[in-house]
Amino acid sequence: MGIFFSLQIDILYVLGTIQNQDPNDRASLESDRNFELRIRDRERRLLSKIQEAIKRIDDGVFGICDGCGGQISEKRLMARPVTTQCIECKTKQEKIEKLKGE
Ligand SMILES: [Zn+2]
Repeated sequence: MGIFFSLQIDILYVLGTIQNQDPNDRASLESDRNFELRIRDRERRLLSKIQEAIKRIDDGVFGICDGCGGQISEKRLMARPVTTQCIECKTKQEKIEKLKGE
């Protein structure tokens, strides 16, 4: 149940920050509009990742690695419930991305 709790926290965090737009907070953030937009963009992406994670739960494939089809460790899922890859596949992917970026 820990994973679901963790997902719920993420959902509440995203919904809270999106809906909780106090006009005073907004005004103080106007000076750094780009920063605000970056945060919102990240929230939107996280929200869509959470929705995907919930869909994977519904489909019964939650916790299964996209890369190798193996089981993602519970520890990793607890830390990052929206993950779609095991640590080995993720590390490999990041190495490839880094190589491409250089
Ligand atoms: Zn994997």
